[in-house]
Amino acid sequence: MIRTGYKQAVSNDDARPATRLTVLSGPSGVGKDSVIEEIRARSPWVWLSVSVTTRRRRDYEIDGVHYHFVDRAEFRRLAESGQLLEWAEFAGNLYGTPRAPVEQRLRAGRPALLKIDLQGARQVRRQMPAALLVFLAPPSVAELKRRLAGRGTEDPETLRLRLAHADEELAAEPEFDITVVNDSVERAADRLLELMGCLPLARPGRARPCEPLTHNS
Ligand code: 5GP
Repeated sequence: MIRTGYKQAVSNDDARPATRLTVLSGPSGVGKDSVIEEIRARSPWVWLSVSVTTRRRRDYEIDGVHYHFVDRAEFRRLAESGQLLEWAEFAGNLYGTPRAPVEQRLRAGRPALLKIDLQGARQVRRQMPAALLVFLAPPSVAELKRRLAGRGTEDPETLRLRLAHADEELAAEPEFDITVVNDSVERAADRLLELMGCLPLARPGRARPCEPLTHNS
């Protein structure tokens, strides 16, 4: 389900110029990772930025695929040398987007997708005003808190921090170009792909097809 801004965000002839940088954000626990995994499985040609983080790796995560896992000294070095497009501290860990790969994609006119937190989305908005900012919303606040608590990947203190942060993140929805409600991972992935121009849009003639890229192209 899309709540707002659909026409403005995707059409080529509206005020906002066509863009190929899409930012997926939304509260922790809303299911950004599941939507990204769905896109990764279904549309492997969609290029996803791989963030650097100081968080410890979860069992299922692969270094270099889900994140580049680094220590704080390395993260500081990357941030201070301007190699991060944006970065933020989230629930006690540092996260950042490597600048060069994103700029390379955009220069080549190819779609790029970032999955980042609210603070990062705000930084991208300032640096790249043409980026399309997508807010992934839960079906309800109660459902978000249930998912977050039920995930079982966090220790109690981290979970407390993430729950405390959720209200602030939910309140940021109006800052985004468009909201996609994650009532079904498949539908949310479809919407995101549509918005990126990677699936035929409902109105003929409006689609901007994505080139099928390999992971290394
Ligand atoms: P998690 O630890 O659950 O993987 O991620 C925690 C939060 O950090 C999520 O909201 C996620 O989207 C965000 N995040 C992941 N990578 C980045 C990044 O490169 N920059 C920013 N600002 N946030 C990120």
